[in-house]
Amino acid sequence: MAVPFRRTSKTRKRKRRTHYKLSAPGVINCPQCGAPKLAHRVCRECGYYKGVEVEGAANV
Ligand SMILES: [Zn+2]
Repeated sequence: MAVPFRRTSKTRKRKRRTHYKLSAPGVINCPQCGAPKLAHRVCRECGYYKGVEVEGAANV
């Protein structure tokens, strides 16, 4: 197994990690009722997804 020739310095490690960032969750406004909801999820306010009501999904 290959082994690193040199220990990674604190600076090098920290510089690499400057590219690690938190990404915002995909929050959109529901096209049905306008409430903010997560993309690709059933709306919790009106229970609609892709223009159709999903059974038992509203106000869970
Ligand atoms: Zn909605």
